[in-house]
Amino acid sequence: MHKNVILAFLLFSYLGAAAQSKTQSSWQQQVDYMVDVKLDDVNHTLDGEIAITYTNNSPDTISFMYIHLWPNAYKNNTTAFAKQMEENGEMDFYYSKDKDRGFIEGLDFKSGGVKLKVDTTENIDVVKVMLAKPIKTGEQVTLFTPFRVKLPKVFSRLGHENQDYFITQWYPKPAVYDVNGWNPMPYLNMGEFYSEFGSFKVNVTVPANYTIVATGECQNADELSATKSGTVDSVPPSDSRLKTVKFEANNVHDFAWFASKRWGYVTKKIKVGEREVLARVVAAEPDIENLKHIETAITYYSNNVGPYPYSHATVVHGELKAGGGMEYPMITLCDFMSEEVIVHEVGHNWFYGILANNERRYPWMDESINSYYEGQAMQKEDSKKLDLNGLIMNALVQDNMLLGEHQAIATASAELTEGNYGMSVYGIGSSAFGYLKAYLGDGIFKKCMLAYYETWKFKHPLPDDMKKSFETTSGKNLTWFFDEVLQTNKKIDYAVCKHKQGFELKNNSAIAAPVPVKVTADGKTTTTWYEVFPGESIILPSAAKDRIAQIDAFGETLDFNLGNNKTDSKVKLKFGSGIDKPEFKEVYVLPALGWNAYDRLMLGLSFHNYAIANKSLQYMVMPLYSFEKKSLNGIAAVSYTMPLDGAGEHLIYSLDAKSFNFEERESFGKDYKYIKVAPSIEYVLPKSNQRSPINRSIKLAYNFIELIPDFDINRSEKVSIIENVIERNRQFFTLDYKLENKSSINGFSLDIGAQYGLISSNSVLADLANPTPFDSTRRRFFPHLKDSLTSANLLTVSSIFKYDLDIGLKNKPLQFRAYGSYIFDSPDATIYKNTIGSLDKAGLYDYRFDEYLMHRNATYGMFQNQISNRRAFSKFVGLLASNETWLLDFQISVPLPGKIPIRPYVEFMAYDDLDKETWNSTGKKLIYNLGLELQVIPDRLEIFFNLAQSSIVTDYQDGTTGGLSSNRQINTFAERITFVLDLNGLMPQKLKRQLKMF
Ligand SMILES: [Zn+2]
Repeated sequence: MHKNVILAFLLFSYLGAAAQSKTQSSWQQQVDYMVDVKLDDVNHTLDGEIAITYTNNSPDTISFMYIHLWPNAYKNNTTAFAKQMEENGEMDFYYSKDKDRGFIEGLDFKSGGVKLKVDTTENIDVVKVMLAKPIKTGEQVTLFTPFRVKLPKVFSRLGHENQDYFITQWYPKPAVYDVNGWNPMPYLNMGEFYSEFGSFKVNVTVPANYTIVATGECQNADELSATKSGTVDSVPPSDSRLKTVKFEANNVHDFAWFASKRWGYVTKKIKVGEREVLARVVAAEPDIENLKHIETAITYYSNNVGPYPYSHATVVHGELKAGGGMEYPMITLCDFMSEEVIVHEVGHNWFYGILANNERRYPWMDESINSYYEGQAMQKEDSKKLDLNGLIMNALVQDNMLLGEHQAIATASAELTEGNYGMSVYGIGSSAFGYLKAYLGDGIFKKCMLAYYETWKFKHPLPDDMKKSFETTSGKNLTWFFDEVLQTNKKIDYAVCKHKQGFELKNNSAIAAPVPVKVTADGKTTTTWYEVFPGESIILPSAAKDRIAQIDAFGETLDFNLGNNKTDSKVKLKFGSGIDKPEFKEVYVLPALGWNAYDRLMLGLSFHNYAIANKSLQYMVMPLYSFEKKSLNGIAAVSYTMPLDGAGEHLIYSLDAKSFNFEERESFGKDYKYIKVAPSIEYVLPKSNQRSPINRSIKLAYNFIELIPDFDINRSEKVSIIENVIERNRQFFTLDYKLENKSSINGFSLDIGAQYGLISSNSVLADLANPTPFDSTRRRFFPHLKDSLTSANLLTVSSIFKYDLDIGLKNKPLQFRAYGSYIFDSPDATIYKNTIGSLDKAGLYDYRFDEYLMHRNATYGMFQNQISNRRAFSKFVGLLASNETWLLDFQISVPLPGKIPIRPYVEFMAYDDLDKETWNSTGKKLIYNLGLELQVIPDRLEIFFNLAQSSIVTDYQDGTTGGLSSNRQINTFAERITFVLDLNGLMPQKLKRQLKMF
């Protein structure tokens, strides 16, 4: 059932959105509340009664009311809240115990003494109350109901932490009825609210030694001292006497209260025009420094948006799991007491509290604008300074745009991914208003905001109301901003270059947003705004000989592609990596270090253009010099990423190359150097929507591997000659399909790959009588080319299926892994015979040279046990499957409760003709292996300790049944330890993509 709930919810909000009017009508409803509530701090419950007086100011007759019962969001795992948390990978609530969850019960809606019929909706935290008698325009109705709230632990906003109480979104509350009809909404963690204005009279009864603060004015004189001391140490016992504290508030649309026996407070009076506003910080250890941050917000917003209308602004330091702070009228709760959080939350009194937009549908109208003002309030004078957070945010947005994962600023909360909620709404949503201000100029922008505030204070503005207000005040057409910049998920990109008549300014993007161009001609600088139609260009005339033009020199617009923003940008060599500047074309350089068993220590340099922001074209060249082999090795990679129209849809063209030395193990221990060049194209398919956990991709690659013998193949002596072959090159075409369901619960992935290979070899003659220099473990080989090239084909398919089964342990599923491979056609070259059996043994399985191996083809030492989780991932050490058809491998990894990072695992393997192996005297068709797994970095660095296995494998390993030759025999526990070290996955450009969800 739970999947249907979320689908119904998404469909519902989508249909709602499609029909939305974007301008508000002149009327709005009024809802006044009287609440009596008593806290039981032993059972963590609230018992209360509420009277809701609803005034219908709409032209419509109202016959029912949607009422929010948001404490029910914490009732079970099928609520919209629970599903969203699960989708976002925040699993605390999912795995929580019933006693820590919450709900509302005991409701009995009546009006005029008549019991009202209540219908359920698809969300248990929204009900439909049928009125006894429809209310016409101008009429009122009062609903009464008792209620009992079981308070959850804090999983989001409402709840308690021991005996600290955070009482928010807690009482039965009608949804907004506006020009678009009813706006019911289930509670969400990521996605806020929409409520009617009115008045509140709330009486709260608590044990007498609680500090209690709330929205509105406190009516108890003895609760109003200027300071009170708190305690951090222990929670005092509750006073047996009770007190009832009364609060009244007008012109607000929500009421929150907070209570604790540990809290004290400090206060300060702040002047707003002729009035005084009380700033108050409430905490176990209230810090007077934080009063300054409240003052910063009150003063800046009052001057630049509109005067603060309420009597106090209170900041409570407490427990919250929905961001760093959360706003309520006159009062905010901050989990993290920084200037940024306090200014932001207090600032919400304007953008949410007074200008009360539908936050769920248009989060940009409160969060983007408020984040912009928060930044302005904090750095007032220095408004053009780009802060580091802003630059990182821009970089992340650029990444998202490249991958087709960006979502427009004006997207509804429930449709945004968790990352985009931060990046689009708060990040570039805030920058967008800086863009608008730069375009309008400081003075006009301020006038627009003051006028918007005056017109829409204590109302519910819709997007076009704001647009109309700004257009009227500024006298400018702002369609480009409100209908395009806010609505597009495409990159805005202008380019400038020199032209014989001056400069050419081109708009490479899909929208006609204006940009400022700074022109310096013969020492004189001017900045002018231009607007160019999408895809077109204009000439900016300039006859000056010495002339430079730069787009967006102050970083005010949302033009993300800085590389084409300035004429005469110079190539600049910089150390490390960093933030690209439009003045330069940066080439970053880093010292590089490498090691493998053949090349030993390698030193080199890495030249690359990986910066904080990924670019469509990226490259890295890392030459590495091996002192041991006196040879130049290294890695090179270049990729071009192209976003397509679908959600997450994109193409990546890549060319990867690398070269290192290694030794071919089989037969004669020949030394080689390999050079691999692999062009590929990967298509990431569109998702059904950006929040979908399903990812699909197809990758086609060509792998060319040249094997260069590191020995003289033209020797003339002929002594004790045997015949053999040496490989010259390998070529593989690979086609891989990947399907991944990244759900936090029961996620899975399926990889299916096919490859077609061509192996080219020479027959050679070898001299075994004079192996110099002689090496007892590695016999040297001195071949003579005999005859011409022969070639062989290889066609295989393989598949990996992984499934994570939830067994009720948070982030610790039972993991299943199945691998299968089938060889249709194989080369009969001696060297190849065993390598295609798909068994892991450092190097033999990696015949495409995909991995970075510490000791490729090792037959001794610890590095021979480096295995790859992209193949069979087998922990059977030293076992060579000589089959040339099918192989199946199945593994289970079992989590242990608590913080233990060790997981027991078991592996089973079967392959064609396993029972006919010479060492398999018992004719077993299945072999097993079990042990313990230590995940240091999941999938990147893992160690496996074998504890038991089929006895025939042990007998094969220690030579009992004549399996491994004496110098390769495996006798000890240490020799059976295998490990994954995935350097591919640790490459910087990939790591950054993995880290981007901060
Ligand atoms: Zn906010």
